[in-house]
Amino acid sequence: MSNFTHLECSKCGHKHDADKVQTVCTECGKPLFARYDLEAIKDAVSPKDFVGREASMWRYWELLPVKDEANKVSLGEGWTPLIHVERLGKSIGLPDLWIKDEGIIPTGTFKARGLAMAVSKAKELGIEKLALPSAGNAAGSMTAYGARAGMESYVFMPMDAPDVNKIECQIVGAKVFLVNGLITDAGKMVADGVPEMGWFPLSTLKEPYRVEGKKTMGIEVAEQFDWSLPDVIVYPTGGGTGIIGMWKVFDELEELGWIGSERPRMVSVQASGCAPIPKAYAEGKEESEFWQGAETLAAGLRVPHALGDFLVLNAARESGGSALSVTDEEIMDCVGQIAREEGLFICPEGAATFAALKHIIEDGEVDKDERVVLFNTGSGLKYTSLFEVDAPVFNVGEKIDYKSL
Ligand SMILES: *Cc1c(COP(=O)(O)O)cnc(C)c1O
Ligand SMILES: [Zn+2]
Repeated sequence: MSNFTHLECSKCGHKHDADKVQTVCTECGKPLFARYDLEAIKDAVSPKDFVGREASMWRYWELLPVKDEANKVSLGEGWTPLIHVERLGKSIGLPDLWIKDEGIIPTGTFKARGLAMAVSKAKELGIEKLALPSAGNAAGSMTAYGARAGMESYVFMPMDAPDVNKIECQIVGAKVFLVNGLITDAGKMVADGVPEMGWFPLSTLKEPYRVEGKKTMGIEVAEQFDWSLPDVIVYPTGGGTGIIGMWKVFDELEELGWIGSERPRMVSVQASGCAPIPKAYAEGKEESEFWQGAETLAAGLRVPHALGDFLVLNAARESGGSALSVTDEEIMDCVGQIAREEGLFICPEGAATFAALKHIIEDGEVDKDERVVLFNTGSGLKYTSLFEVDAPVFNVGEKIDYKSL
């Protein structure tokens, strides 16, 4: 029994058949949202039923779009730790600070949630070949779940994509192609190949199910705080699926009666070298403009134009949150500070949230007694190419002055 009923356009509300392969809205080209029979979910399950279920995002089965459990493609993603970072919090006068740590998830980033869900749905819909233009972590996750599902994966990556991402795709047997151009050029190559190859492209928000995987982060935070939400959520935004998914699921949880009508203030963070969403936010616009010459070492945030920009902006505004950018230098300083103070080697995208938090505290946007959750979206171990080893060398037999170490 599935409670997933249909797909609905997030912009114009047009309904689409969920038993067919769908991409974006056939009327207006915007992303589609999965809709559920929430009354049926209410009858089937209540929050206490989740206690003791499997420690992955699949514990929320009733709220997910996969209909037959045989189609679930999983490596154990989700149910990540929500860590009270007291020392880090104290350093900025905020005792109730938490990090939702997605760094320990399969494939090393939270892209696993979205792609586990999308690949599972692709399997359910009878798709055999996946394709993705990607400059990074999405490709690593897609190809891992593709391999797990026994599907063929084709990845088109800009030549300057990080080696770690090329290698993780290659090792699981994906067909990896490097493009002497930009991510947009890679996107065009995939699109042009679709008719001939029968690929299912899994680009961000161009299929409806990655959002459903990422929304589980919002349910987890609610459950981990005993079905309450924090005052503020700070989220590093690229394509926006995570913030969009969480904002969507909060409404679902409220309709189920599992949480109240209060919402966290949603703060969307980008890097100053690629900040289309903060720019649109500051200018009071509903949609963002393409960001020319996007550049940041937080590769997951290097998205010059997001199809779901209007949804991110809406979540930030409706919740009383905001959108702001931070520099790469601030980001790297925060990677070091968080690692030294909490032992968490997080990715630059995740560290951007802490840099942003410092700004909004300075601007008086957060009270000292408020509960704040930062999202760390991936492991720093995927980013070792950004660092250099800095350690003295001893020769064998050399006399070491231990006290001076
Ligand atoms: C893709 C990515 C992001 C941005 O995610 P969205 O939910 O699409 O905005 C953030 N951090 C990392 C590590 C990523 O790989
Ligand atoms: Zn539409």
